Amino acid sequence: MNPASRSSVESTDQTSQLNRQMFGRRALLRNGSLVLAAAALTKEMLFARESKSDPKAVRVGVITDLHYADKSPAGSRHYRETLGKLETASKQFAADQPDFVVELGDLIDAADSVDVEQGYLKTINKQFASICDDRHYVLGNHCVDTLTKDEFLGGVGQERSFYSFDREGIHFIVLDACFRGDGKSYGRRNFHWTDANVSAEELEWLRGDLKSNSKPTVVFAHQRLDVSNNHGVKNCVDVRKALEESGNVVAVFQGHSHQNDLNEIGGIHYCTMAAMVEGSGPESNGYSVMDIQPDGTIEIKGFVRQASYRWDA
Ligand SMILES: [Zn+2]
Repeated sequence: MNPASRSSVESTDQTSQLNRQMFGRRALLRNGSLVLAAAALTKEMLFARESKSDPKAVRVGVITDLHYADKSPAGSRHYRETLGKLETASKQFAADQPDFVVELGDLIDAADSVDVEQGYLKTINKQFASICDDRHYVLGNHCVDTLTKDEFLGGVGQERSFYSFDREGIHFIVLDACFRGDGKSYGRRNFHWTDANVSAEELEWLRGDLKSNSKPTVVFAHQRLDVSNNHGVKNCVDVRKALEESGNVVAVFQGHSHQNDLNEIGGIHYCTMAAMVEGSGPESNGYSVMDIQPDGTIEIKGFVRQASYRWDA
């Protein structure tokens, strides 16, 4: 049977592995001949299931900066299209079966009223929630622009804005940098987006959390911890110091500036992920599935505009 004639769900792991080894990700077999996919991946390749390279690896589905809102596009941001893009990502996640999914912030965009904005949140979260029961939400500045933190967290069913958890042998930390320089939480349009900070209380919690842990650690944040420009967390140097001193942090995944970017500082990878809201059409989508092995090796398979990476432990 020609591998390309099988449906994505039926195609075996061996087949997709063989195709990958022989032809790389941008090539596939069709009717027995090699076809190079120049721009877009075909449906078959997009949704083909890939097995974990190590069965003990933790698999994570990642999306960021959806900015969902029922409003017309502004500049490069196509708010309504996020629903369709998330549906495409959902199919990939359904095939890849991540252990959990994480959304790196700016799930919604602003409305004129709290009620309407809560409607946006309900709509996009209904679709996100259908992907996986184990979900983690990083607060983005747009999540708590009109809403308060309690309203956003209540809407998605998450208790805290910063916390940690373990899956297999990996430690994960969710950070909240939606605090003003004076320590007050963002909410109800009380902040300027460039005044992003990890609060003193949170930083103390982070130091303690890192101290009590010896597993390879992965951090999720919205605003960036690797830059000191408008997209950076104001006290990122203090946060980075805590991460570096622990000696266990392998990588930080962040959103906020909407484009792929990668910096290595103090032995830690700071990876900024592509925003789902940017651009029109399926060719502008971006999402990823990452496998984290017990030794801390991370492999990120990026889809459409999201870059792929592999960092060996
Ligand atoms: Zn954003």
